[in-house]
Amino acid sequence: MTHGGDSHGAMDISVVVPVYRNADSLRELHGRLRRVMESKGFRYEMIFVDDGCPDGSPAVLEEMASADPGVAVLSLGRNLGQHRAVLAGLRRARGNAIAVMDADLQDPPEAIPALLEKLGEGFAGVFAGRRGRYESPLRLLTSFLFKGLLHLLCGVPRDAGMYVVMSREMAARLLSIDARRPFVIAMIGCAGLPVASIPVERSVRRSGTSAYSSWKRFKTGCLAVRWVLSRKRDDLRNRGKRMGRRMDRDALAEHNRRQRLYYEGQARANMVPRVSRYLERHVDEMLRFADIGPGDRVLEVGCGMGRYTHILARRGTRVEGLDLNGALLDRLREFHGGRYEILLHCADIADPPKKLEGRFDAVIGFFTLHHLHDMDLCFEAMARLLKPGGRLAFLEPNPYNLLYYVQILLTPRMTWEGDGGIVRMRRKTIFDTMRRASLSRVRMERFGFLPPFLADRRWGAAMEARLERVPVWRAVLPFQLFGGERFDDVQ
Ligand code: UDP
Ligand code: MG
Repeated sequence: MTHGGDSHGAMDISVVVPVYRNADSLRELHGRLRRVMESKGFRYEMIFVDDGCPDGSPAVLEEMASADPGVAVLSLGRNLGQHRAVLAGLRRARGNAIAVMDADLQDPPEAIPALLEKLGEGFAGVFAGRRGRYESPLRLLTSFLFKGLLHLLCGVPRDAGMYVVMSREMAARLLSIDARRPFVIAMIGCAGLPVASIPVERSVRRSGTSAYSSWKRFKTGCLAVRWVLSRKRDDLRNRGKRMGRRMDRDALAEHNRRQRLYYEGQARANMVPRVSRYLERHVDEMLRFADIGPGDRVLEVGCGMGRYTHILARRGTRVEGLDLNGALLDRLREFHGGRYEILLHCADIADPPKKLEGRFDAVIGFFTLHHLHDMDLCFEAMARLLKPGGRLAFLEPNPYNLLYYVQILLTPRMTWEGDGGIVRMRRKTIFDTMRRASLSRVRMERFGFLPPFLADRRWGAAMEARLERVPVWRAVLPFQLFGGERFDDVQ
């Protein structure tokens, strides 16, 4: 049932108030709201949503509506909860801006003009930031923690509550979200529009009791967090799908630009060529795994400053290097000082020089794959560089070894954007990609155990050899070799 309300002309503001057992406060709320609206000269409507009230509230609302044409009453018929009541009110609201507030006078109506002013600064939602000791210390604390979590998850201000003014656009977004158990604050946070808060003193409830028992608060909070998390997961999946698809040229250029920046500037200590048992082990495992013998023509993609390239050359392979970053290739040249003949190609792996096609016995990479954006494109391009029977092989981190994530967190120069690609280094993902690139005999091996400073010592290397053979932790050994072969039918 809807009453009253001004049905013609643009409305400056709609005030949406969910009502559940608020017979004591409604008249005062209405009086104070009206004073605020009239003092500012706003054209307004007040939408009181009767959320299946079991008390005298509906009778009070009837009376208010018949006395004031600016008051509309929406009856939900049964108790659907504060958040559904608010959404029902939003659906009915016609104002250019919409304020949502509680009916129990904990939210002072006098704050609306300041909230609207802030909204005018270009925000789509402005919360009345909760201040004061308006409820018990325990409730204040749990509320503080819960809001902190929501802030981290979806960016709503830490002091947000259900007293908020919003633009029509925000209201439309909220109404388009399909949430089984809506929680308006989280929905505002997830709407993707700019929000802010200004401090507003919140009052103690003067009559009646909160409609939320501790248990109901806890349950509502958990459901809200679960909803935000599931939404985040969907967002990530969609982004993942988008990344998996062929990327357009602009996106590729942007990715490559970021990759260059990631490696430019100060040289990372671990990229500089050095004599190291640890690095030699990587190369020797690779040579064995990819069946590379002396004299084989090998392309090392993502060779960087050549910490592996030099060792490969020393082992007698005819190695050539390819990297996106010319500055790193210059460093490679400096470091090896012409000791071996190493041809270098500055190019994107997804778009290598035509003249290299069909030339290599092996195309290999050390810790390169997880930096690539479009793996399908890169694998197809790399497969074309192989002679028939040529091997493709990569050494990559094992995403199931959680120490990598600790390293990304703790190492200042590592970022999730730069190195987060390791989560894609899963057996199935890589195997599928290789098969799509028509590679056969795809295989994987894991090895390693100790960090470089231990593996670099003789006793460390001996200990590692024993440790990595223990079956229980095979699945999380830090290094993985992926390999495949270009198979061509004999004509
Ligand atoms: N409310 C509602 N339906 C409900 C519970 C609450 O419409 O099932 C409304 C209530 O009338 C009030 C607002 O939601 O306007 C906040 O409720 P309450 O003051 O009880 O909660 P608290 O301030 O303790 O969070
Ligand atoms: Mg209250």
